[in-house]
Amino acid sequence: MSKNELLYTRACAVIPGGVNSPVRAFGSVGGTPVYVASGKGARVTTCEGRTLTDFCCSWGAMILGHAQEEVVEAVCRQAEKGTTFGINTAIEVEFAERLCALVPCLERVRLVNSGTEAVMTALRLARGVTGRQRIVKFDGCYHGHSDSMLVAAGSGVLTGGITSTPGIPPEVAKDTFVVPYNNLEAITELMQAKGNEVAAIIVEPVVGNMGLVQPKPGFLQGLRDVADRHGAALIFDEVITGFRFGLSAYAQTVGIRPDLITLGKVIGGGLPLAAVGGSADFMGHLAPVGKVYQAGTLSGNPLAVAAGLKTLEILERDNPYPRMAALGKRLADAVNAKAEHFHCAQLGGVFTLFCTHAPVTNLADAKRSDTQSYARRFHHALDAGFYLPPAQFEAAFISAAHTEADVDALADAIKSQLLSAEKRGT
Ligand SMILES: *Cc1c(COP(=O)(O)O)cnc(C)c1O
Repeated sequence: MSKNELLYTRACAVIPGGVNSPVRAFGSVGGTPVYVASGKGARVTTCEGRTLTDFCCSWGAMILGHAQEEVVEAVCRQAEKGTTFGINTAIEVEFAERLCALVPCLERVRLVNSGTEAVMTALRLARGVTGRQRIVKFDGCYHGHSDSMLVAAGSGVLTGGITSTPGIPPEVAKDTFVVPYNNLEAITELMQAKGNEVAAIIVEPVVGNMGLVQPKPGFLQGLRDVADRHGAALIFDEVITGFRFGLSAYAQTVGIRPDLITLGKVIGGGLPLAAVGGSADFMGHLAPVGKVYQAGTLSGNPLAVAAGLKTLEILERDNPYPRMAALGKRLADAVNAKAEHFHCAQLGGVFTLFCTHAPVTNLADAKRSDTQSYARRFHHALDAGFYLPPAQFEAAFISAAHTEADVDALADAIKSQLLSAEKRGT
């Protein structure tokens, strides 16, 4: 048994499915999930000593690459001064100030420990402010694993073919309406019928969790309009998109002002840190000012904040965004020049290799992908030294540490797979 298989066997004896998050399992691609010993820059080293170029990047969190020196130093320095107090610190104030300065539509932010928690808080707040119960989400969007969001969810829920999750009371699930992404007609119709019951419309402004799917022109503005028309809050779940395509929220880039924005992944610099924010008025309903309760022992702890603050500082200083976008485009162009029955969707440094030739604009399109073909491509890439997300319905990420050579090598591996697949007629 290989070291990896041995670890997996041990893991399965003590951790359900051997993984601490279902998206790390190899359920949809087959084989044994990888166990990592360390990471540096664009590469991870497995427990067997193999080096892989990493295009998962902790699902986008590691925008500067692994173990970036200045981030490591900031974390070590903070660790020596204490990691959490349950008492306020200056660094969390500085971090909140940075977020509000970089995302002008945020006047107040509350720091939490995960994207799930940020979304859960945003929904409770929207319900508290509007006095309504129902939430509208889009088919295939993933907003973390809180009860009301595990309805028609993307990411691991989609990959696992889980359509309804036992453990979620039907009364909770029935309060979540689901409409197709990129379909303004559908949501307009739903809101005409039920708008007076809807507390919030929540959306990934660019979807990462059914693979990368971009909003059609006018879609996001249409959501703002329809939310306004019916007095519902608009929540942009920017746990992936925030600080991913530029040094702000995606909302800022497209000039739309949601009522609430959730942030996570990138802003934590690789530590557990997320945020929910909005106008002073809206956020003023959160305790201790308002009556909507939310709290957290480790919320805004200085260790995570040190990593996040340093990451934002480096992103601002180095502005790696144009380079990451150029690398993304280089990869997509190289792959798409060759591909049939297959294409690379890409925005900035985010991409998905969809095993379908048709463009993907919503979940129904995404589901036309040949997931077995994706599994073969995934393993071919892994054998060639590249770690891609181990599922079709996920986004892959390019970090500031990746180079043209890394991207070209991945493109070559994909193209060689395409050639051999054509020869086999698969
Ligand atoms: C990852 C993700 C979440 C959940 O964040 P966690 O930190 O995993 O709880 C929520 N929303 C979106 C859009 C995400 O991509």
